[in-house]
Amino acid sequence: MTQTAEEQAAQPVQPADIVIVGGGPVGCWTALQIKKRNPAARITVYERKEVYERDHVLSIGKASFLQWSKNSDDNAGFLKSIFNAQATCSIASGLHAGGTKPAIDLGALPASKFSYWRNLPKVLDIRTIDFERILKEECEKSGVNFVYKKIETPEEIMDLHPECACFIAADGANSKMRGALWGADSVWKRDIYPSLDFKYASEGQPGYLRVNTYDKLGHVYAENIGLEKDGKSDINLRIIVSKAEYDAIPAATFKKPLTVTPDSPFWAGNGPSRLYGRTLKQDFYDLQDLRREYAKERPTDAPVTMTKIYLSQYCAKKFAKTVERNGQKKSWFLVGDAAMGMPFYRSVNSGLILGSQLGYLLTSRLVAEAAKTAVYNYYTRPCRILREFARVAKTEARIMLYKNIFRPVFFKISQTPAAPLVRKPLDFALKHLKYGKTS
Ligand SMILES: Cc1cc2nc3c(=O)[nH]c(=O)nc-3n(C[C@H](O)[C@H](O)[C@H](O)COP(=O)(O)OP(=O)(O)OC[C@H]3O[C@@H](n4cnc5c(N)ncnc54)[C@H](O)[C@@H]3O)c2cc1C
Repeated sequence: MTQTAEEQAAQPVQPADIVIVGGGPVGCWTALQIKKRNPAARITVYERKEVYERDHVLSIGKASFLQWSKNSDDNAGFLKSIFNAQATCSIASGLHAGGTKPAIDLGALPASKFSYWRNLPKVLDIRTIDFERILKEECEKSGVNFVYKKIETPEEIMDLHPECACFIAADGANSKMRGALWGADSVWKRDIYPSLDFKYASEGQPGYLRVNTYDKLGHVYAENIGLEKDGKSDINLRIIVSKAEYDAIPAATFKKPLTVTPDSPFWAGNGPSRLYGRTLKQDFYDLQDLRREYAKERPTDAPVTMTKIYLSQYCAKKFAKTVERNGQKKSWFLVGDAAMGMPFYRSVNSGLILGSQLGYLLTSRLVAEAAKTAVYNYYTRPCRILREFARVAKTEARIMLYKNIFRPVFFKISQTPAAPLVRKPLDFALKHLKYGKTS
């Protein structure tokens, strides 16, 4: 049975061969990959939260589960529980893929990678909370030890486990371990575009807006529609803004968002900045009206809040390091968001693959212990980072193409009598469009 943090604190520290700081999706996945390859390895995961609570839906490509990962006989049950968890959130899956997803039965399949590859759906939509719960249950089944404790510094954990020579930092995008071990200048960062996230609640389960808006709105936006819970759904509208509009809005963080009303003073700062003749305020309220009309949205009386996000991507300059503590050599490895990512955007995919690669490397007898940090640094850099950056660059190019070329052209046409010639095929396409991924 899982113990509470107080019960654990009263007990002696269990010796470990590998210690993981951070029991999020990637920390658990990495522990599992190591255990699958070396069941005798003693692994302890340090997680600061006793209860998982993040509810956002992750879109995960099946390739992320299978690339570099260890295929074992009990995979069928494990993959089945992960992929079937999305059946319980069939509304979200239905929104993305145009219908509820059938339950998957992998039990009868021979345990080969190809049979799973063929039978699993291409994209899994799963709530973070479900994903973390299933991964943690699987870890506990394999004998991974979980300790609920916030680790403040790498020294603290190295002193708690003097017997351990291998530490993995999977403590997320604001990794304390990375900052302490590699310093403030430890990551490459690139800003992509500024955006504003408007959050509010709607009654029932609204859908996505499936009408074209190029002649109605000036800004590009993305919708993220939550699953209905207690009769309400969370709505997140992300509006991509110009730098001038972004700078005119005062600080608004996740912890301290701004409350949005038609009279909010910050709209005034946006007055002179217009995209295709439309202000941010006009676009936000018109988008809400369109969603009411076409997406069955019924906003509740709860306040609308807004946060500023400058979408960016980052990656650690080095993914592994050997340090000395009390005269002993200790290896440190970064995985998941601690290593690289683009916040809110498909990062878990590269995180899982990185975790599988690390699991493979750490259990490999072909690479000497002392060389593992060098090998990890070598092969994570060219393969994963370039690929991830290329993927983001492609998406960025698509947005820019739409924003700077298609949209102005459509907008110009919409001012002429030829508008129906464009509107009709676009409406037709949107009507039949199937949403693929959330991000
Ligand atoms: C709104 C939103 C939507 C997203 N949508 C998608 C999507 O559709 N597709 C996708 O691929 N990705 C998406 N992401 C990104 C995805 O959630 C992350 O990439 C993923 O969670 C990274 O996993 P991780 O385990 O590396 O880090 P995290 O999930 O950040 O986990 C880190 C864990 O470490 C723990 N921890 C941190 N510091 C310490 C410490 N000092 N001591 C002990 N424990 C610690 C934390 O409690 C946490 O459990 C989204 C993110 C958000 C916020």
